Amino acid sequence: MVELKDTMRSLILLQDCDSRIKSILEKKMAAPAKMQSIESQLQEVEERWEETSRDLEDRKRQRREAEREIEELETRAAKSQTKLDSIKSNKEYRAALKELDDLKFRKAGLEDRVLEMMEAIEELEEKCRSVEEEREEINAEGARKKLEIQEELTTLDQELERLRKERERICGGVEEDLLKRYDLIRERKDGIAVSPVLKGICQTCNMALPPQRYNELIGGMELMACPNCHRIIYWGEDAYYREGEGD
Ligand SMILES: [Zn+2]
Repeated sequence: MVELKDTMRSLILLQDCDSRIKSILEKKMAAPAKMQSIESQLQEVEERWEETSRDLEDRKRQRREAEREIEELETRAAKSQTKLDSIKSNKEYRAALKELDDLKFRKAGLEDRVLEMMEAIEELEEKCRSVEEEREEINAEGARKKLEIQEELTTLDQELERLRKERERICGGVEEDLLKRYDLIRERKDGIAVSPVLKGICQTCNMALPPQRYNELIGGMELMACPNCHRIIYWGEDAYYREGEGD
């Protein structure tokens, strides 16, 4: 009887070991997606920063162009003014005056645009500063998170190695046929081959055992399977199995 309970305890430990291995493998599998999400964030802010910088440079260039144009108009206006002073006929005078007015009008329009551009440049410079700050933050945060993931992976690998050795050690004490049965159930039953029964209910499939079977389970004379999910079951309230908990 004690022998059966020892076997059962080994299976419980093995199940615990395998569940931990499974959870570690799942965590490891989540790492690339986490890395990818950090990379996307970095890329997004980088693109936003480049776009804002480009907008700013465009605006500055447009402003320089408008200012050059204003200078040109000023030169032309000065020439028109000189011409105006030397004109004798009324008709020519009116035409030259109109030309001068046109130049002045165009110059005023350009000056308004330059003012607007200066405001836009100021706004863009502000935006650039804020995106740059954000970019630095995200870069630092990204580097920190990546390091964290790397460290987590290292820890997970170490834990995995420890658990695999532990598994080997436990398996050493279990009969080969039973191990095969255990592995087969685990493969088919979502990684869980061993289930405790508490108050007559299988804790994995949540079905109640027939009272007679439950009594047999408490009696502990043979290795039993859940009549519903077919997992190997044990009486979870047995103090014998609880002694080893937390090991
Ligand atoms: Zn069950």
